[in-house]
Amino acid sequence: MKILIIGAGCTGSALAHIIKKCSSREIALTIWEKSAGCGGRMATSRFPADSLGESCSLDIGAQYISNVEKYQQAHADFYEDLKSSSVLTRMTGEVEGALPDASPTQHYISSKGLSAIAKHFVAQSGAELCVKTRLDSIRLDSNGLMATANTGNSALFDYVILTIPAPQILALSGIDSLLDSTEKSLLEGVSYSSRFALAVKLPAGFTPPVSWTGLYVTDNPCVRFICIDSKKRGLATSSTLLVHTGVPYALKNLERDKEDAGLIEDIFTHVQQVLPWLPTESKVLRCHKWRYSQVHHAIHGEPGYFNPKSTSNLLLCGDGFTHSNLDGCISSALKTWTYLESSLQGSTRQ
Ligand SMILES: Cc1cc2nc3c(=O)[nH]c(=O)nc-3n(C[C@H](O)[C@H](O)[C@H](O)COP(=O)(O)OP(=O)(O)OC[C@H]3O[C@@H](n4cnc5c(N)ncnc54)[C@H](O)[C@@H]3O)c2cc1C
Repeated sequence: MKILIIGAGCTGSALAHIIKKCSSREIALTIWEKSAGCGGRMATSRFPADSLGESCSLDIGAQYISNVEKYQQAHADFYEDLKSSSVLTRMTGEVEGALPDASPTQHYISSKGLSAIAKHFVAQSGAELCVKTRLDSIRLDSNGLMATANTGNSALFDYVILTIPAPQILALSGIDSLLDSTEKSLLEGVSYSSRFALAVKLPAGFTPPVSWTGLYVTDNPCVRFICIDSKKRGLATSSTLLVHTGVPYALKNLERDKEDAGLIEDIFTHVQQVLPWLPTESKVLRCHKWRYSQVHHAIHGEPGYFNPKSTSNLLLCGDGFTHSNLDGCISSALKTWTYLESSLQGSTRQ
């Protein structure tokens, strides 16, 4: 039995881990990931040493994990595993301006960076991880599903599971013939917010003169959230700042290149307005565009996964089928596994 998972974000990696843990069958599990590593929107960017000091890294997408009461029991195994493997630890830093939690909530961070979550799940799954491998097209074959990557490699799989944002699913070559018009419009209804992220390094030895670790900003037309990443993660390195813009600012500038010097300068100027103490020698390390950031409208009913009528062997899942956070990804992976398990049992009986 050959299964291909597209995407090594939290959903794809959690699903690989669940399949390995729960399946009694011999399964050859492969993951194709278009970027250079695991994490997806829980990515941790790494930067070499420079004139401002040693190498550094920071969480460029998701910032911290909020495990609400509803999922504390349901996903306890996952959290226990992540905590006992030193992937997740309780967040101790103060986040100013955060809305009060509606129910008892545990907040976690990873001192290794949040991409450690997906890395951990993939390592446990034993799956073959192919990075820099982007699924470009998919088609139904009499013996399964034929997947073709940007590398030119084509291979036949019994099941293909797409864990990528819905607009990226709809852009795949060949997907048109696997979805009917109702299914397409269901997927077209899944929408996401957009943001830019700016990674900033402060001069060696400079300690930000604030008590907070994270700050929600409400009175700036560009900046929405700032985090002192090095402080959040308890690192004894130069301070690093992560800045997320607000959604309206991102939508207004969405078609600008993330490397556009004018765009970067504009965001940085707004950060200086919010943080007047920011040293002028601070250095912008990277600007990243999150075109698909957090899910705004999930697929109707948040079923966790979607199986098109054309074939029982193609599954679509990810936060677009639940909601945007680690628990949304784990829920999606668990529901996808429930489908897969019963489908595999059916294929054994035939
Ligand atoms: C700016 C931002 C802030 C956020 N803040 C938080 C937060 O504080 N807390 C929180 O819990 N959540 C937060 N989230 C949401 C959280 O990051 C997502 O819900 C979660 O990471 C989604 O995981 P996923 O695996 O479903 O999708 P993704 O992480 O998008 O994973 C999909 C993977 O598929 C890969 N891929 C895409 N297309 C292809 C292809 N054709 N072939 C191969 N690979 C492909 C991508 O590179 C990616 O690695 C935030 C997200 C963003 C962007």
